Amino acid sequence: MSSPHVVVIPNPEQGHVIPLLELSQNLAKHGLRITFVNSEYNHKRVLESLEGKNYIGEQIHLVSIPDGMEPWDDRSDMRKLLEKRLQVMPGKLEGLIEEIHGREGEKTACLIADGAAGWAIEVAEKMKLRRAVVVITSAATVALTFSIPKLIEDGVINSNGTPIKEQMIQLAPNMPAISTGELFWTGIGDLTMQKFFFDFMVKNMRATRAADFQLCNSTYELEGGAFSMIPELLPIGPLLASNRLGNSAGYFLPEDSKCLEWLDQRQANSVIYVAFGSHTVLEQNQFQELALGLEICNRSFLWVVRPDITNDANDAYPEGFRERVAARGQMISWSPQQKVLTHPSISCFMSHCGWNSTTEGVSNGVPFLCWPFFADQFMNTTYICDVWKVGLRLERNQSGIIGREEIKNKVDQVLGDQNFKARALKLKEKALSSVREGGSSNKAIQNFVQSIKQWPA
Ligand code: UDP
Repeated sequence: MSSPHVVVIPNPEQGHVIPLLELSQNLAKHGLRITFVNSEYNHKRVLESLEGKNYIGEQIHLVSIPDGMEPWDDRSDMRKLLEKRLQVMPGKLEGLIEEIHGREGEKTACLIADGAAGWAIEVAEKMKLRRAVVVITSAATVALTFSIPKLIEDGVINSNGTPIKEQMIQLAPNMPAISTGELFWTGIGDLTMQKFFFDFMVKNMRATRAADFQLCNSTYELEGGAFSMIPELLPIGPLLASNRLGNSAGYFLPEDSKCLEWLDQRQANSVIYVAFGSHTVLEQNQFQELALGLEICNRSFLWVVRPDITNDANDAYPEGFRERVAARGQMISWSPQQKVLTHPSISCFMSHCGWNSTTEGVSNGVPFLCWPFFADQFMNTTYICDVWKVGLRLERNQSGIIGREEIKNKVDQVLGDQNFKARALKLKEKALSSVREGGSSNKAIQNFVQSIKQWPA
């Protein structure tokens, strides 16, 4: 009998494609065949970054569908991009699945969709396919989303998602307390954009709840409190490339792997790694202040400066900065982050605290300097600083920026207090125990695969 076939579809963003490919690699290892659906735009970039190397394995077939935008269109307009995707991608996905089913003997045992791609779940429902949702945020974020009706009922937010007043909320003991000012659907554009995003999210939440399987890139060991609120949510994380083949795939930018050789030449526990994920943008003055902060730290650093990290087309570094830090600082456009975080030279991680970066830092026992910008990054910061106590927040000054002295002071505090590293190493053990043979996430994946294998085609 041929191995069961599943279709995996990520939300077409960098921080979603990476973990969904990691999950796919894991499922392939357990004997499933996978059709992995990128948008055409992302597909091209993923293939380019692989440079012909086959990290993906023969069980995973990479395919693409259009997302409604032309390659030259401006993709920085989030709303337009989302609207186009919602108009075009469902029909294209349906067409693709019909085409697959048109091949002799080919059936899809399950459609596995990203929790942020509720539209794909709806396609599966329409086509009467089994559906699994993979949420690549924390379970606490899922719990918060599932609590939206109750938050509205209790008068904490209105039906547009806008907080009625600023207050702290804690959904369960051991869950991070968060301010209503930092709910992840607030702080994204103006009120119309927020409402649009909130409605999109509520729709995704409904689709997630209706799926046959609800999986989350997290683990009971990290988030017992949040998981206890949603018993149907199964932990399958942390999804890391190192659990399987040792290589991440799915990068949209070419990785600079030379930085690993540079790290080899540094002392153990001596390099600050600075990276803010795939789409955080810094104002020019904040960018310069960060550069000057790293300079006065007087330590080695590896800093990911994506080509679009500032809106400024010119060289945004302070004058003379590159020359002054040349002996101890490296700036690169994209790192092989998971390998970097595994490197013994790394001492701490200055991060925007996206959930992937959070789980990757945690899984390597690296203390954090937290610099959240939007969405779930505030909640993740609360986990890191207040619940797990493996890092410190960088605080903004009265002008709304994080100043160079604050950067230096917090780096010195985190690296000067061995308790941060000790707690980080303990947390690493807890997180990794869940993906080892017999661990809770490992069992959940095995049960999921078993169910797929037992479902009639
Ligand atoms: N990443 C990487 N190299 C970089 C920066 C980021 O490989 O130079 C990866 C990182 O390992 C993570 C993902 O990009 O898997 C970013 O996801 P995250 O949830 O942290 O942030 P987002 O980009 O979604 O804001």
